[in-house]
Amino acid sequence: MTSHPRDRYWLEQALLLSGRCTVPRIYCVGCVIVDQEGAQIAQGYTGELAYPDGSSGSSPHAEEIALSRMPATTEGATLYSTLEPCSERLSGLECCSSRIISHGIARVVFGVREPFDSRLQIHCRGEDQLREAGIAVVQLFELEERCLAAIKRGDT
Ligand SMILES: [Zn+2]
Repeated sequence: MTSHPRDRYWLEQALLLSGRCTVPRIYCVGCVIVDQEGAQIAQGYTGELAYPDGSSGSSPHAEEIALSRMPATTEGATLYSTLEPCSERLSGLECCSSRIISHGIARVVFGVREPFDSRLQIHCRGEDQLREAGIAVVQLFELEERCLAAIKRGDT
């Protein structure tokens, strides 16, 4: 899959959003959803919202928040996330890859693959799951280092 000239701009917007994350010890991720005309329709970042019941210390992921704000009728949208969408959550909550698939997103652009976390023992398969569902997936390597630094800014 090839990248589009405007991909860099939108992923930079997601990076900016991730900078608003102030929660320690989580990946600080930013997400923007753009419709097929190239207009932004939703956004979100980790730490922006909390589950009402506090769900065992987990908080909604950036993609999850952005998807919840997306108009239901949207077709052909592109989702930009600084981090590869997750494929498994220890909390048992629905992973972002399957949320992306069920929301009918056509294309996903991300900055960095999810690093393997030896504490969690999760090998992220987000990119593969999305592709298997027929979604076009692009990693924008030119922003990989900046996205990696940004997701880890919550590490203490
Ligand atoms: Zn996720």
